[in-house]
Amino acid sequence: MGGSARDIARAGAAAPAEAPDEALAELIRLLPGAVLAGAEAVEPYRRDRALDPAAGVPLAVALPTSTAEVQSAVRWAARHGIPLVPRGAGTGVSGGATAVAGGLVLSLERMREVRVDPATRTAVAQPGLLNAELKAAVAAHGLWYPPDPASYEICSIGGNIATNAGGLCCVKYGVTVDYVLGLEVVLADGRALRLGGPYVKDAAGLPLTKLFVGSEGTLGVVTEVTLRLLPAPPEPRRIAAWFETSGQAAAAIAEIASALRPSVLEYMDRTAINAVEDAFGLGLDRAAEAFVLAGSDDLDPAARDITAMVEAFRRHGATLVEEPSAERGAELAQARRDAIPAVEAKGRLLLSDVGVPIPELGRLIAGIERIASAHRTGIAFIAHAGDGNTHPLVFFDPDDAAAEARAEAAYGEIMTLAIDLGGTISGEHGVGKLKRPWLEQQIGADALEIEQRIKDALDPQGILNPGAIFAAPAR
Ligand SMILES: Cc1cc2nc3c(=O)[nH]c(=O)nc-3n(C[C@H](O)[C@H](O)[C@H](O)COP(=O)(O)OP(=O)(O)OC[C@H]3O[C@@H](n4cnc5c(N)ncnc54)[C@H](O)[C@@H]3O)c2cc1C
Repeated sequence: MGGSARDIARAGAAAPAEAPDEALAELIRLLPGAVLAGAEAVEPYRRDRALDPAAGVPLAVALPTSTAEVQSAVRWAARHGIPLVPRGAGTGVSGGATAVAGGLVLSLERMREVRVDPATRTAVAQPGLLNAELKAAVAAHGLWYPPDPASYEICSIGGNIATNAGGLCCVKYGVTVDYVLGLEVVLADGRALRLGGPYVKDAAGLPLTKLFVGSEGTLGVVTEVTLRLLPAPPEPRRIAAWFETSGQAAAAIAEIASALRPSVLEYMDRTAINAVEDAFGLGLDRAAEAFVLAGSDDLDPAARDITAMVEAFRRHGATLVEEPSAERGAELAQARRDAIPAVEAKGRLLLSDVGVPIPELGRLIAGIERIASAHRTGIAFIAHAGDGNTHPLVFFDPDDAAAEARAEAAYGEIMTLAIDLGGTISGEHGVGKLKRPWLEQQIGADALEIEQRIKDALDPQGILNPGAIFAAPAR
C-alpha cells in the first residue's frame, strides 16, 4: 500500500503558486456580496463530516447564486491557477469537500430553486437544494424522489449527484444515478455544458451525464439537475428481527436479497444498537448481536414478501421477529438513520463504506470483527445490507495518538478485506481524499490510468478538487 489516508490528504492540501491579494480583490469585484475571506469566516467551510485534520485554510469561500456566477468563479480560479473545491452541505464522509490551503471553496448553498413538472414527471433543481426539500417539493404533486441517504435532511442534491448517493430505499429503487436525466455542469474552463433533459431514454452519443454523476467535483461543478420522479409508494410494512449471531443475520439477508424485492433491508450490530440506545433510549435490545429492519411496500394481498421475510428470519434463528406498528416501524428506521451521529458521540470516526457481493456479507462481518480485536479499536457496524453496502464505523479517542494509529490501520485493512472479497472501497460515499490510497488496488492500474486521462482532458490544470479521487498535481 501507498501512504496513509492522512498523508495523501496532506499532499492534496498543496498551496497554489501564488494567491495574491489582487486575485482576492478581483474575485470580490466579480461576485459582490458573495465572497467570504479571512480565517474566521472560512473556518466553517474547511471540512466536511470526515473532519480531516489536514484540511487547508482556503483563500476564500464563494457563495454564487447562479450558473453565471459559478462560471465567473471557475474562470477566475482557472486564470490564477487556484484550486477550487465545490461544496454542497458538507455532510460528506470521505473528505471530498476538504478545503485546499490557499484555494477557493465554492459553496452551492445559495442555489436552491426547484421546479416540478408533473407532465414529464421530472424536477429541475439547483444543486444547493437539500434532498429533504426536494422530496417535500415533489410530494406536493403526489410524486416521489426515491434516493434517501440517511442524511437526507441535511445533504444537498448537488452533493448527492457528486457522490452518487445511496440510502435506505435504494435496495429496491436504485441510487442517485438511476434518477438523473440531465445536468448542467460548469467545466474547468468556465463553459456551462448542458446534458440530457426531461426525457426518459437517451442513446445519443457517449453517456456523459452518467460520467459526471459520482465524479466528486473533480470534473466540473453541477449547477442544475433534471431528475426523474416516481408516483409515491404506499407506506411500507416493516419487520424487525433480532439475532444472537451476525452470521445468522447475514444468512437471512442473503436469502431474502436473492429471492425477494424488499423496499428496505438494513442492519445494525450490537455496538451500533447500544450507541443508538445510549443516545436516544428507544428500547432496543442491547443484548442482541444483530438487528435487521426489513420492509415491503408491495401491499397487494397476493404478495408474499412479508411472509417470506418472516419465514427467512425464523429459519435462520432470529430470537425475535415482529411486525411493529407503523409509528414504531418509522422510529426503528429513524434509529438506523441516527446510528452515525450516535457513534460519533463515542469518539472520532473513520467511516468506512465498503460493499461486497451479498453472499460475502457474513465473511465481511466476521473479518471486521477480527480486525477490531486485532487492532483493539471500536468498530460499530451498520449496513444497507440488502445492497451489500456496509458502514464499519471505526471510532477512537481523538486525544490518544496510539488509538488513532490503530484505528487508521483497521480502516485500511477493512478496505483490503472488501477488495479481497470481490467488493468495493465505496458503495455510496465516494473516494474523496481519504480512500484514494486504495483505489488502484480495487480498480487496477489500467482503469485508473483511463480515469486519469479523462480527468486531464476535462481539467488540464488540475484545479478541480485536487487530491480527491486523483493525486493532486504538484504546484
Ligand atoms: C449522518 C450521516 C448519514 C449519511 N448517510 C448516507 C447514506 O445513507 N447514503 C449516502 O450515500 N451518503 C450518506 N452520508 C454521506 C453524505 O451525506 C452524502 O455523501 C451526501 O451525498 C453529501 O452531500 P453534501 O451536500 O453534504 O456534499 P458535500 O459533503 O458538500 O460534498 C460531497 C462531494 O461532492 C462534491 N460536490 C458537492 N456539491 C457539488 C456540486 N454542485 N458540483 C460538483 N461537486 C459537488 C464535493 O466536492 C465533494 O467531493 C451520510 C452522512 C452523514 C453525516
